[in-house]
Amino acid sequence: MSGVSLSVVSSSVTVRAPAKVNLHLGVGPLRKDGYHDLITVFQALSLYDDITVRQDPELSVHTRGDGAASVADDHTNLAYRAAVVLAEWANRAAGLSIDIDKSIPVAGGMAGGSADAAGALVAVAELWRLDIDRAELSALAAGLGSDVPFGLHGGTALGTGRGEQLVPVLSRGEFHWVLALADGGLSTPTVFAELDRLRENRAAADTPSGDPARPDRLLAALASGDPHAVAPLLHNDLQPAALGLKPALRRTLRAGLETGALGGIVSGSGPTCAFLCADHDSAVAVAAELAGAGVARGVRVASGPVPGAKVIDHG
Ligand code: ATP
Repeated sequence: MSGVSLSVVSSSVTVRAPAKVNLHLGVGPLRKDGYHDLITVFQALSLYDDITVRQDPELSVHTRGDGAASVADDHTNLAYRAAVVLAEWANRAAGLSIDIDKSIPVAGGMAGGSADAAGALVAVAELWRLDIDRAELSALAAGLGSDVPFGLHGGTALGTGRGEQLVPVLSRGEFHWVLALADGGLSTPTVFAELDRLRENRAAADTPSGDPARPDRLLAALASGDPHAVAPLLHNDLQPAALGLKPALRRTLRAGLETGALGGIVSGSGPTCAFLCADHDSAVAVAAELAGAGVARGVRVASGPVPGAKVIDHG
């Protein structure tokens, strides 16, 4: 009997894909092709989007949950594009319905769209039982966006290039975070453009513009597993640009530190702020105080590192 049940083809597959925070984000000068070289340390956090795929005559995507109203359910949706590139790879018609249940804030600097793309790649590969290895899936992911390979990879990783070239980072234990969600999003290209502008004007002393260096002290602190050692080493070159575009975030960052977080940082291109706490109890206390302080649209407690996109259900 077990052979029979193994051969049953699923009618749906659900994948859970994590948000990311950048513990370090070093941004190099603007390149001729319009991109920037990055050196970044990603950590995947326990804040997830769930992506469910089913065979269907037409390719379609439906997004619900946090911020769904500002996500286009058409060919520009990253999960839709992921299904198209995987169908091309498999030489099949992309007849699929994709349902996305979002908890990752949209345009929040937590790579929600990239998580959805990574989730769709894993879900469709599972639904169709494709014989595709991790390296090929990662190559397709990199073609969809710089943060998509990390959505597959998860854990803690050092990213170079545009952030898509990954090596795992040794990170001991569990880190506890509070995420302060902001009203409205920030467009990633706008934040990079603001950084370029600040650097051109040399208006901000804290926007160094040389080639970014590997954050060796942070890597050592992560290996030690001590959040007190990690907290002062959190760094984001995009932060002055994000704060310039959304000055209210300064208050959010200050409030998080005043309520007992060890360190606070704008996540990626923002506007979500991420606070590293000593332990789970401290994270719950910081979240409660931040929620009461009225400096965020919402707060979430999350931990990391967690795995990349993975199958959680077969229908
Ligand atoms: P990153 O941190 O990778 O720069 P982000 O977290 O700031 O990205 P996303 O939520 O990934 O931002 O969305 C960025 C833009 O991508 C949104 O404004 C949205 O219009 C578009 N987008 C396309 N597909 C999706 C999706 N599945 N979920 C969210 N946004 C999507």
